[in-house]
Amino acid sequence: ATRTGPPPREAETHCPYCALQCGMVLRDDGGGGIEVRPREFPTNRGGLCQKGWTAAELLDHPDRLTTPLVRDPSGELRPADWDVALDRIATGLRTVRRDHGRDAVAVFGGGGLTNEKAYALGKFARVALRTRHIDYNGRWCMSSAAAAGLRAFGVDRGLPFPLTDLGRTETLLLVGANPAETMPPLMRHLADQQARGGRLIVVDPRLTATARQADLHLQPLPGTDLAVANALLHIALTEGLVDREYVAARTEGFDAVRRTVAGYWPAEVERLSGVPVADLEETARALGTAGSAVILTARGAEQHAKGVDTVSAYVNLALALGLPGRPYSGYGCLTGQGNGQGGREHGQKADQLPGYRKIDDPAARAHVAAVWGVDPAELPGPGVPAYQLLDSLGTPGGPRALLVFGSNPVVSAPRAARVESRLRGLDLLVVADFLRSETAELADVVLPVAQWAEEDGTMTNLEGRVLRRRALREPPPGVRTDLAVLAALAARLDDPAPGGAAGPTGGEPTSSGPAGMPDGTAPTGGDPAGVADGTVPARFPTDPRVVFAELRRASAGGVADYAGVTWDRIESSDGVFWPCPDPEGPDTPRLFADTFPTPSGRARFHPVQHRPAAEEVCADYPLHFTTGRVLAQYQSGTQTRRVAALRRAAPRGFVELHPDLAARLGVAEGDEVRVASRRGELLAPARLSPTIRPDTVFAPFHWPGAARANSVTNDAVDPVSGMPEFKICAVRVERA
Ligand code: SF4
Repeated sequence: ATRTGPPPREAETHCPYCALQCGMVLRDDGGGGIEVRPREFPTNRGGLCQKGWTAAELLDHPDRLTTPLVRDPSGELRPADWDVALDRIATGLRTVRRDHGRDAVAVFGGGGLTNEKAYALGKFARVALRTRHIDYNGRWCMSSAAAAGLRAFGVDRGLPFPLTDLGRTETLLLVGANPAETMPPLMRHLADQQARGGRLIVVDPRLTATARQADLHLQPLPGTDLAVANALLHIALTEGLVDREYVAARTEGFDAVRRTVAGYWPAEVERLSGVPVADLEETARALGTAGSAVILTARGAEQHAKGVDTVSAYVNLALALGLPGRPYSGYGCLTGQGNGQGGREHGQKADQLPGYRKIDDPAARAHVAAVWGVDPAELPGPGVPAYQLLDSLGTPGGPRALLVFGSNPVVSAPRAARVESRLRGLDLLVVADFLRSETAELADVVLPVAQWAEEDGTMTNLEGRVLRRRALREPPPGVRTDLAVLAALAARLDDPAPGGAAGPTGGEPTSSGPAGMPDGTAPTGGDPAGVADGTVPARFPTDPRVVFAELRRASAGGVADYAGVTWDRIESSDGVFWPCPDPEGPDTPRLFADTFPTPSGRARFHPVQHRPAAEEVCADYPLHFTTGRVLAQYQSGTQTRRVAALRRAAPRGFVELHPDLAARLGVAEGDEVRVASRRGELLAPARLSPTIRPDTVFAPFHWPGAARANSVTNDAVDPVSGMPEFKICAVRVERA
């Protein structure tokens, strides 16, 4: 714990789960109970979903880890004190580095970590471990949209406008998004939009809760979203709906796209996707004739081996219709994880440095190296994306030690059984978490870390809005913050022998770098908790406010510029939108009004072609399999499966299939069914629903063990983003 003074009894903060980052108030009732109240905030407007309402239950949960665990010679995880656990890690890391080199150590982060932690983790990997191998689970969340946004607009910010704009747009096209289950308070904005006479159109292979509220539902075969987008642009062209003035003035590369989409005849796309021509035409007209329109994609369109191209097809459509930069219009991505946006901006990705800088850009390396007080030549180069990293663990030439912070790949990785066997083969697996996740169960050392209500920090939500996470109370005895863990490990790695006396933060002074921020905050040092004599700046500060000040310097001038974002400024507003280069200047709620941050100032079209899924159905595996979420669970379920009300609402996994398919298979409601792919199988009860296509089955991915949906999913990845193909593979289904 780093906060001093008595803990506040009430804290205005945000939900720990998804990227909507709903505003809430936490109140300690004095008797140990924590009350959650929603508060007015632009994204949730006073609403919370059941995950938010119950979020505080985990703070005092009996499963909470409060002491480190170290695996003993008999193979059991046993409680140990911090010095023993940290020494074990330091010794293990040293041995692996000595025998196999620095890149034999890898780091795996999470999209739920605060900005400060994501930044510190990237720095820890590059400076303390000097490994190129760091990536995070956000790679599996929105990396396809990020890559497509970067190549089209020169910037990746999930929504380039405030969420409230959705309520005012005339036509809203949602592609592969189901916010009614994943982000229920967002539906208030959609209700506003429809109440104003706007049209909501949903593209989804399932008639989801969101699709049920739509004015029009397109139900394509999984994996055909790209063709649908190209057909919509084809129709827009033939019907004269393209905004030629905008295309000429603000974009480049349209001719190649025009030639490409010319081949996407609606009748042929209907045969491919199953979406009727009339629905395609109605959608194109609703978008092309509206005074304002927004196109949003989410995981349904993005989690494919052609995810980047699929998003590009929708970006092309938005650009051709002249939407980005117009009032209440544009393209955006609904980021999923709590800090999925900030988590990808501060150097937690294999190919990036803070500020969304490219790690192979010499100027970027020089800037960040100066902030970190190291020689640019010492910074490692790019690593590999998350799945490739995990799949290389323990293989010849691959990493032999892995540190996991805030992630549970045993449940969330594609082809999860293979990832699990890779983790089992490591020389050293370390997991920092506050619960014993399925990944923690495999670890050699488990470190108990603080939860969201026990530490300060910042998060960046799906709008690119930087928010304050505020602590209500100190972590329980025996628990440390992730920042303190990184500082302690860095200190041990700096020392010639484990347990040495370099001090709690690493001891090594930073070299002279740029001066402090214009608002007078400290540059990199000044960590009150981490520096014994108050004169030596800590290389790995444990005070999140100090880390944030350093993050601002590291991001200054980058794509995601936080230099003008201060904690005080966030306190006095509903958050600050990046880019915000100047503490005295404005932030940027809306991007692209006048220009795009590309070399030419124009947005770039990219011609993209439909291609089949990496694995197509065949006689042995005749059905399409797709995955997703349910309202009462979140991600790998490590947290939400332990909350009583959520467990009651969604106690176990299931397999959703159409009644016609069930009849053909001789399966009744509730029967245990086996879903098998070439990689593995899952067992779960059947849930019959006419809302899914008869050629497709669905399973949520929140459960481990026999019901683990990712035992089945395909590990084929997008060549640009590294996104695995979670959303489609070929399976057979039978009664178990
Ligand atoms: Fe809001 Fe998401 Fe939390 Fe639900 S899980 S309360 S939608 S931030």
